[in-house]
Amino acid sequence: MSELRHVVCPGCDSVNRIPVARLAEGPRCGSCHAELLPAHPLELTTGKFRRHIERSDLPVVVDFWAPWCGPCRAMAPEFGAAAAELAPGVRLAKVNTDAEPELAGQFAIRSIPTLIAFRDGREVARQSGALSRGDLVRWVRGVV
Ligand SMILES: [Zn+2]
Repeated sequence: MSELRHVVCPGCDSVNRIPVARLAEGPRCGSCHAELLPAHPLELTTGKFRRHIERSDLPVVVDFWAPWCGPCRAMAPEFGAAAAELAPGVRLAKVNTDAEPELAGQFAIRSIPTLIAFRDGREVARQSGALSRGDLVRWVRGVV
């Protein structure tokens, strides 16, 4: 019996149970057939946030950003490249703090970009300021 991981679908938010050995094989959602672990960051809204953080067995690293923030825009391609490098073991996600002020308030985001790493629904680390792809990957691997 293979070990299973709960993975929340980016498309329909269903919780899928995927054998660990199959995580790297491009698994698809049993409900909507969307790719469960795409190699790019997932956009999280207030409505989706808790489910994706709390029901996922994979660590989730969230970039709290805003469209007017130059360093955030500069980091976006680095974050995307880090998402591809860290997939499928770690999920990278983005929260637009202009569109989701409740989440920014809930996590006391005082400067952007701020990265927060979650495991089992709990914050395990945070870091403020833009990082390059290499530093992002090293930071994530060090905290999750
Ligand atoms: Zn789905």
